[in-house]
Amino acid sequence: MTNNPVYGRCRHCSAALQHTFVDLGMSPLCESFLTAAQINSMERFYPLHAFVCDVCFLVQLQEFVSPSEIFSEYAYFSSYSDSWLAHARTYTDRMIERWNLTGESRIIEVASNDGYLLQYFVARGIPALGIEPAANVAAAAVEKGVPTRVAFFGRQTARELAAEGARADLLIGNNVLAQVPDLADFVGGLALALQPRGVITMEFPHLLRLMEGNQFDTIYHEHFSYFSLLSACSIFESSELVIFDVEELPTHGGSLRIYARHRADDSKPITDNVRALLAQERAVGLDSIERYATFRAQVEATKRRLLTLLIEAKRDGRSIVGYGAPGKGNTLLNYCGIRTDLLDYCVDRNPYKHGRFTPGTHIPIYPPDRIDATKPDYLLILPWNLRDEIVAQMDHIRGWGGRFIVPIPEASIIP
Ligand SMILES: [Zn+2]
Repeated sequence: MTNNPVYGRCRHCSAALQHTFVDLGMSPLCESFLTAAQINSMERFYPLHAFVCDVCFLVQLQEFVSPSEIFSEYAYFSSYSDSWLAHARTYTDRMIERWNLTGESRIIEVASNDGYLLQYFVARGIPALGIEPAANVAAAAVEKGVPTRVAFFGRQTARELAAEGARADLLIGNNVLAQVPDLADFVGGLALALQPRGVITMEFPHLLRLMEGNQFDTIYHEHFSYFSLLSACSIFESSELVIFDVEELPTHGGSLRIYARHRADDSKPITDNVRALLAQERAVGLDSIERYATFRAQVEATKRRLLTLLIEAKRDGRSIVGYGAPGKGNTLLNYCGIRTDLLDYCVDRNPYKHGRFTPGTHIPIYPPDRIDATKPDYLLILPWNLRDEIVAQMDHIRGWGGRFIVPIPEASIIP
């Protein structure tokens, strides 16, 4: 045991949290872009300090902001992204085939957003129900013909569904598990809402990819938990659910899609995919606290390297602007302390952000055409996952000697 202070209790197993995964300092909520009037007011900052539990190895933030505060009027509509729709459509076809879903089956999706996924089941004549906490987003789903209930999912909602005879043959949750404050209530609800021989599929970013890819900027207050397959198995087991299959997906920097069933359902044996990925996680040390302690040093080294690049450029009289103002860019900007002393401005294609300022760092956001007007020497690519696309799109900046900087996985200038 260590003599570290106890910072709280593990969200899953209630063990004392004593081990820092990474401490990114104080940050405002990453989606709270400010208007010109708001930058003259006080701004709320919360600790962005991730811990790892030394019993179940769940990486987690403490909950400072309630989900109802974050999600009751959520601005993110899934259907805005073409690639995400294609992902949803392919998934639908595969699930219908693999699980022989028919007009007699029932699909439930938790955090169903604007019906981006369930619309494809509805189109194939399979009854579907969405559960979505944000009323404005749920209304968009209903307009698409996807029946949607406005609720947070947990044991209470699941009991209501079961009482109505509406348990699911396929129960879906994509990119929701990280945002659940009470894991036992949520996963316990999944067990209650699932038919005896039903299947749960869930997608979430994979902690192993986050660590290997140095993706520390994907840590933000809205995401309370960061899962390995090891910790996910432990969490599902607590509700008598077994993860019997898993796939690795390229989405969100590297995600997992897990398949779970009731423990008593022996019709679906545990696949080699599960055994192989658990073995891989153990091989890199995700079942020992020492491995987690190395992440912090890696992140701090990246901060020093990025700041060195930016400071040297400024010292040489160069101008730097940020390309893109994604939510995760704000974790990076706040943690590194990058403000208008280093970045003149940011550009983004989303008109909502034009005329606003990045939270905490107060960098003004403009439409992309400002780059051609001001001809900066460097573009710092904040949505680094789209780096190839952005470099291709903005290649013409090389005409005036412009160059690109990517912060992650390794802060560097693209040659
Ligand atoms: Zn734990």
